[in-house]
Amino acid sequence: MSTFYDDPVHIVRGEGVWLWDADGRKYLDCYNNVPHVGHCNPRVVEAICSQASTLNTHTRYLHEGILDYVERLTATFEEPLKTAILTCTGSEANDIALRMAEAMTGKRGIIATDATYHGNTTLVSHLSKSNVPEVGFGLGQYLSHVEAPDSYRIADPDGQRFAAKVQEAIDDLEQRGIGFAALIVCPLFLNEGFPTQAEGWLKPAAEAVRRAGGLLICDEVQSGFGRSGSRFWAHQKQGVVPDIVTMGKPMGNGHPVAGLVTSTEIMTRFRKSFRYFNTFGGNPVSTAAAMAVLEELQEKNLQAHAARMGKLARERLSQLAGKYEIIGDVRQSGMVFGAEFVLDRETKEPAVAFTDRVVNRMRERGIILSKLGRHKNTLKIRPPMPFAEEHLDLLMTTLDAVIAETLEAA
Ligand code: PMP
Repeated sequence: MSTFYDDPVHIVRGEGVWLWDADGRKYLDCYNNVPHVGHCNPRVVEAICSQASTLNTHTRYLHEGILDYVERLTATFEEPLKTAILTCTGSEANDIALRMAEAMTGKRGIIATDATYHGNTTLVSHLSKSNVPEVGFGLGQYLSHVEAPDSYRIADPDGQRFAAKVQEAIDDLEQRGIGFAALIVCPLFLNEGFPTQAEGWLKPAAEAVRRAGGLLICDEVQSGFGRSGSRFWAHQKQGVVPDIVTMGKPMGNGHPVAGLVTSTEIMTRFRKSFRYFNTFGGNPVSTAAAMAVLEELQEKNLQAHAARMGKLARERLSQLAGKYEIIGDVRQSGMVFGAEFVLDRETKEPAVAFTDRVVNRMRERGIILSKLGRHKNTLKIRPPMPFAEEHLDLLMTTLDAVIAETLEAA
């Protein structure tokens, strides 16, 4: 098990944006995107219980649950993304996406950024540089990593620089005789530290991919389901229509359901090339949970709420940046926000130890958040979607006090 914090938290109960530990201490959850519509959301709990007490089986029978869900899910996508496979984890979804790319192109070369994470299957785990196993099946030969975007340090206002790096990687894969099959990216580059990007930033890279006959896979395991605020899917913000979109984490509010959406053409080719069956993926209980999440998001208008809260969060973080030199950059995309701590605003040297201390001190004061990014110095704040103004206020007031106290203690 890998846990957060120097002194891990033992959580026993959750409700909305709140968590309680074994000693009855209450924490404001500013980090978990899995309980997307709130911890123990009553609609989701009811859907799971009701379906579990009616029927749950493997996926070899007809069941209207999966059909109704996929219809409602694909209605949130643009043409030609109208068909889906449901899985249990985001890793499996990405694994299938890579195989689809092979089925379509007859090639195996995959491009990912050098600061990302896409999952834990043998194939997919090789995509994250920090995870590449020392032993393994030699899959590294099929990969090419491109430098992750870093809006604070590397000027690339229109994505042309990134596209050029992707082009170099495509050429390299082709020259090595492996051939280029797909580029896989999270459209908000959330694991990379969610750099600031103009709408449509990914377009030039997508064009390079298409010119080379490859597939664009958008991994929306973190960025999907309204998290990005202005759009339901983050790739829509990036102005691209991917060939495959993978999803997971928030999809079942904690119930293990994930999947991908693609075109009929790609699905058909995949089905011809690979035999695929998933015992649990898209079973009646999973689809009931996932349907309840979609209903809750749409009925409560949580996407618009995320857009509004994200803006407010950015304002509050910018105020803190005006007060504390150690905040080098403020970043936000929908309801994902954070700040990069630097030792010096000129050199932009990452304040990694300081960031760790802030995260741990916030936990001591009852606020759960985390840090990540290319330089491991970016606070990552990504609360359940019902996160409201009063919660933001508590978060920012506490963060203000914790930054002051951590600076003083240094
Ligand atoms: N893609 C991204 C962007 C992720 O962040 C993760 C999980 N952190 C995954 C894929 C893998 O999802 P899972 O853990 O459900 O396999």
